[in-house]
Amino acid sequence: MAEIAVKKQPTRRCTGCGERSPKSALVRILRTPDGNIVLDKTGKLSGRGAYLCKNPACLKKARKVSRLESSLSCSIPSEIYERLEEELL
Ligand SMILES: [Zn+2]
Repeated sequence: MAEIAVKKQPTRRCTGCGERSPKSALVRILRTPDGNIVLDKTGKLSGRGAYLCKNPACLKKARKVSRLESSLSCSIPSEIYERLEEELL
């Protein structure tokens, strides 16, 4: 198989659209140990994370079906969504 020769990048599934993409094309939404929801741009923070495309539409999708909440097992107030959306633009 030719694909084996291709250097593999770790992929993650977007919480919004469900597509798998290389980690570098995604952003990580993170619940920090003290309960904050942040956009982890460096990918280096620790905590429970969910991946999203760098696309506000994916955030909207995830919000609509509360999939981020289930991934992070916490409720996310709308001001957090708004802040995340701004940061994605
Ligand atoms: Zn997506």
